[in-house]
Amino acid sequence: MRQYRNRLTLIMLTLIGLSMLAAGLAMVTVFKQSHIQLLEDNMVREIRLLQTMMEFPDTDSADALSYYTNRSVQLEELSDARVTFILKDGKVIGDSESDPLTMDNHAYREEMLEAVKEGRGSTIRRSDTLEQDMLYVALPVKAGENFDGFVRLSVSLKEVDQGVKQGWTVMGIGLLVLFLIAALVSYRVAKGLTSPLEKITRVARRISRLEYDARVKIHRKDEIGQLAQAINGMADSLQTQLRTIRDNEDLLQSVLNNMTGGIVMVSGAGQIILVNRAAEKMLGINAEVITGKSYRELKQHYELTKLMEEGLESKEGFHEERNIYYPVESIIRLDGVAMMQEEEQESYRGMLFLLQDVSDIRRLERMRSEFVANVSHELKTPLAAVKGFAETLLGGGVTDEKTSRSFLQIIYDESERLNRLIGDILELSKIESKRIQMDYSPIHLSAFFDTISEMMRTVAEKKRISLELDIPEELFMEGDEDKLRQIFMNLLSNAISYTQEGGRVKLTAREKHSNGNAEDIVEFIVKDSGIGIPKKDLPRIFERFYRVDKARSRGSGGTGLGLSIVKHLVDLHHGTIKVESELGIGSSFIIELPVLQETADTGS
Ligand code: ADP
Repeated sequence: MRQYRNRLTLIMLTLIGLSMLAAGLAMVTVFKQSHIQLLEDNMVREIRLLQTMMEFPDTDSADALSYYTNRSVQLEELSDARVTFILKDGKVIGDSESDPLTMDNHAYREEMLEAVKEGRGSTIRRSDTLEQDMLYVALPVKAGENFDGFVRLSVSLKEVDQGVKQGWTVMGIGLLVLFLIAALVSYRVAKGLTSPLEKITRVARRISRLEYDARVKIHRKDEIGQLAQAINGMADSLQTQLRTIRDNEDLLQSVLNNMTGGIVMVSGAGQIILVNRAAEKMLGINAEVITGKSYRELKQHYELTKLMEEGLESKEGFHEERNIYYPVESIIRLDGVAMMQEEEQESYRGMLFLLQDVSDIRRLERMRSEFVANVSHELKTPLAAVKGFAETLLGGGVTDEKTSRSFLQIIYDESERLNRLIGDILELSKIESKRIQMDYSPIHLSAFFDTISEMMRTVAEKKRISLELDIPEELFMEGDEDKLRQIFMNLLSNAISYTQEGGRVKLTAREKHSNGNAEDIVEFIVKDSGIGIPKKDLPRIFERFYRVDKARSRGSGGTGLGLSIVKHLVDLHHGTIKVESELGIGSSFIIELPVLQETADTGS
């Protein structure tokens, strides 16, 4: 832009300089010519004056030569011009500068020829005698019979030249001043023209450097103002478009990141284009590291990469499930979708892989079917007994009253067991489906356990087992009374069932002030001196239908569901349960429950 301004200024200055020079030249020429013309007219007038005023004696007389010579010298003194008297034939008869006798014939001098022809002749010529430019003016002069010839005046043009030179100097200075003014003005004009353009260029450059808030601050009505407005309008629309694009990008990004499903996008060439957060977590990869690399880099998921490879080759969608073992063992459902570009002709862009962790769903499904299998198995045994003994009785083969009574007793016991089993199963499924409502109230623990021990005491006494309670009188806690009762009835009846005659069962409760800001808890321990649980079975005894030894459990009439129900009820109270046991020495079930329940969690 500066270049453009300089060039503009230069062109303007050259034009101004040239035209001024031309004007100067023309002026000087005119000045010189008019000066010479004026001089010439004066000289003509002087000659005419001379013609009328002077006496012209006969040129043939003896002293004519000296007369005219003297006269010419006198006249030169008066007029400052060289005076020459010339006869018609060109012979010089008097001259103010040199001796007429030494002078050659003047008939063919340019001014003489012109004077003969036009009645007045003039010429400018260099005089060899004076070494100056001279103006010669000749006029035919006739004075009666005495003189018939020409009078010629000549003056030096030295003064004219000097005048012209002076004129040149004055004009030169004037021109220079004018030129300087013109230069200043044209620079200003050029600047006025280019500086807004410079501003606009600067803003356009900033916009191209992605500084979309740059604006041109020019408020003019002309073309430059319109250009500035157009640039600002462009910047405005770029800015809004960019904002829209960024918003869309953010939206897309947050959708991708907050999806529970994993997404891996692979180009047709096998390059990973995109990995969202869920996929990162599922596959134990880092999007920043893996993006741009080949999908084969997912080496630790061999099965998945194989599926991806097939998908990329066939360019067709698929749904498959595979196990992965890193970062955690899980079952992943992989959906492959071929990505097609819809503009113009359809073209293949690669594959979009959707990943879903279906481990939980599959585990639940497996548990459900296992549960159904277990339930039917558990129900079959007592049913078979009921059916078998009933058939025998109906067959009429048993006549002995005692035997038939004992058969009926078995049928009664087994149906009782069936009833318990079905009751427990219903209870468990109710708790598991989380439809159960918690009904919290403050519980005075020592009173609460008094009624429980009342109920258990008869069973314990039958086996001569001592039932001991150690509950601080002042202990209160918040809980669902029915569910708490269920927990401790189950634990106490287990303790009594799995303890030999004459053994001991003890229940203690203690408030534990947890250090720090965590809530206070009550710790319950149900301890017996019974048969104990083998180490290998400890982790599993809270599972449904799990029994350490089917034979001994059956004997006690257990269903294998009791501890599993207990565990669920403890969970509902936001507590924990664990077991410590030594074979042949006894078992301890340790339960920790919070003193206060957070009401917000009620019923969840
Ligand atoms: P069950 O109805 O068979 O007692 P539970 O779920 O209550 O079922 O108990 C699961 C298994 O844990 C029982 O079969 C038993 O083998 C073992 N068990 C539970 N409590 C005790 C205990 N206090 N001492 C020894 N074994 C126990």
